[in-house]
Amino acid sequence: MSTLNYLGQSLKNLFSRPATENYPAKPHIYEERYRGHIENDISRCILCGNCMRHCPSSAITVSKAEYTWRIRPFSCVQCNECVEVCPVKCLSMVNAPTKPGTQKSIIVNRYSSEQIAVEQERQKAIAERIAKAKAAAAAKSPNPADTAQASKENKSCV
Ligand code: SF4
Ligand code: SF4
Repeated sequence: MSTLNYLGQSLKNLFSRPATENYPAKPHIYEERYRGHIENDISRCILCGNCMRHCPSSAITVSKAEYTWRIRPFSCVQCNECVEVCPVKCLSMVNAPTKPGTQKSIIVNRYSSEQIAVEQERQKAIAERIAKAKAAAAAKSPNPADTAQASKENKSCV
């Protein structure tokens, strides 16, 4: 490179914008479709477990008994499968990496006490409906003892 070229390049660099970002003074803006980490809006989650069953790296655990949805962010491979299979669309792929924090190895989302109360009422109502349906079905079907007696009587008549 000639001295003139060198001087030209130096002057250009001196007056042009820096090629790198002034991080962390200026926060990095991630692309809109950047796959950073998964977040769950637990207020809408129905704990169906679909995300857990489809996760290729077993990063998600759902417990209906404990009313919890858990994720191990370092096991997540950002494939987006869980977001696509969630029936209520409460999962989202956030376009920034997981924030540092004390829950970094496992993040637990738990139902609020109001959500738990609503869910318990719903389960109770379902159990009552099932019990009623069973009772109605039993009342309709003939009693096996009566059937046996009727059969005996029929035989004795012959
Ligand atoms: S698929 Fe969606 S609704 Fe079902 S447990 Fe996962 S996050 Fe919740
Ligand atoms: S993005 Fe993929 S790897 Fe990560 S939790 Fe969802 S299904 Fe699992």
